[in-house]
Amino acid sequence: MDSIRDAINNGASGEQLAAIPLPGTYRAAVIEKQDEAMFAGVATRDKDPRKSIKLREVPVPELAPDEAVVAVMASSINFNTVWSAIFEPISTFGSLARFARESSWAKRHDLPYHVVGSDGSGVVLRVGSAVRNWKPGDRVTIHCNHVDDQDPSAHDDSMLGANQRIWGYETNFGGLADLTVVKANQLMPKPAHLSWEEAAVNALCNSTSYRMLVSQNGARMKQGDVVLIWGATGGIGAYAVQYVLNGGGIPVGVVSSPDKARILREMGCEAVIDRSKGNYKFWNEDDTHNESEWRRFGGDIRALVGEDPDIVFEHPGRSTFGASMYVVKKGGTVVTCAATSGFMLEFDNRFFWMRLKRLVGSHFANYREAYEANRLIAKGMIDPVISQTFPLSQAGEAAWQVHRNLHEGKIGVLCLAENEGEGVTDHELRAKVGETRLRRFRR
Ligand code: NAP
Repeated sequence: MDSIRDAINNGASGEQLAAIPLPGTYRAAVIEKQDEAMFAGVATRDKDPRKSIKLREVPVPELAPDEAVVAVMASSINFNTVWSAIFEPISTFGSLARFARESSWAKRHDLPYHVVGSDGSGVVLRVGSAVRNWKPGDRVTIHCNHVDDQDPSAHDDSMLGANQRIWGYETNFGGLADLTVVKANQLMPKPAHLSWEEAAVNALCNSTSYRMLVSQNGARMKQGDVVLIWGATGGIGAYAVQYVLNGGGIPVGVVSSPDKARILREMGCEAVIDRSKGNYKFWNEDDTHNESEWRRFGGDIRALVGEDPDIVFEHPGRSTFGASMYVVKKGGTVVTCAATSGFMLEFDNRFFWMRLKRLVGSHFANYREAYEANRLIAKGMIDPVISQTFPLSQAGEAAWQVHRNLHEGKIGVLCLAENEGEGVTDHELRAKVGETRLRRFRR
């Protein structure tokens, strides 16, 4: 791997990279099947990814005809790696075993270890015999939508594909590693003005927010829409704020600290709610909902922007969902992609039907949506929201930070890249975007 890293850092050509032999094994952050029960009886909050995520040397998998081997320069932590690492709500080894039943190539994924991670930036080293659009030497970012393109159900919106999976969560050989094997239709051009780690943090969260707000498959945001964004400096929220501002909307960002409120204001989000100050009690002690607190929250939004939200960008789930469904405007839309605080949700259906609201479920993004979201990054119209970077050997610590909400924006992970700041090739665009924007989330 050292010779591959050196060659990339020295600007080797595609032919030169293709001539370097692949190693037999590579470094990877894995969880192990033998640990599936290690957190039995432990409260979710205390399940510790630092115990379950381990750095191992693992064999390089065989390459299928429609795949590429990518040298991963950097990756990032997504919440799905937290879920894998705490084996909640299910162990991902069950998903790998189910996947393995589909084909001989899928069988490769069913192993006693799971290389986790669903983001990556790097350089293509090899392509399978059926790959047409990519070649060794291409600098890429990787999106996580893994689809079977021979399945008819994947040919309207590939997120509706019967066999759609998330790479590095429901498949093996994920991005928190020095190498990965991905489908060629997961590859996108690396934004040239960004370093490896800046380029690595976007694909999963940026594409998710793009689909939720901008795509025809999501909430179909339009100019002037008021959009309430939970976790507005978190992974998906920080991209959502940028989409609302770019699209001529009015973001109302909810965060939980003065520092996060400051970042939001610097981004141009004027309406900010610090939920730690608001201290909303949407749930009573006896697990019944508290409508007067929903009303107080709605009043705080109106006090800031003078009206109810057209759209609520929802993902905390059980803690907030009832309030989200209540405060959204008559005829408005709640779009949700997650349930961090619990997936059994409760809301008052009377306010939903009498006020003709819409609820839209959303999950990652199809290739086209991910590509368009990546294009906006590459043009400097949406910025990465990286706050800090960890080495691959500390992937567990990085996942712990996300699990315990100790972070802002995105956490990058250096894989083959040894130093931050490497990999920039378009210095002119970088200067135009400016370090203030690119470093807004940096600690
Ligand atoms: P993140 O970086 O941890 O940010 C989430 C933010 O939400 C937190 O920083 C926190 O912000 C806020 N939050 C957390 N719990 C909350 C609660 N109980 N009440 C109110 N706010 C709360 O995570 P992320 O990357 O944005 O992901 C968020 C969720 O979306 C995760 O569950 C993740 O698995 C899911 N997700 C789904 C998809 C998909 O394709 N379906 C894609 C990406 C992410 P404050 O403390 O500042 O309020």
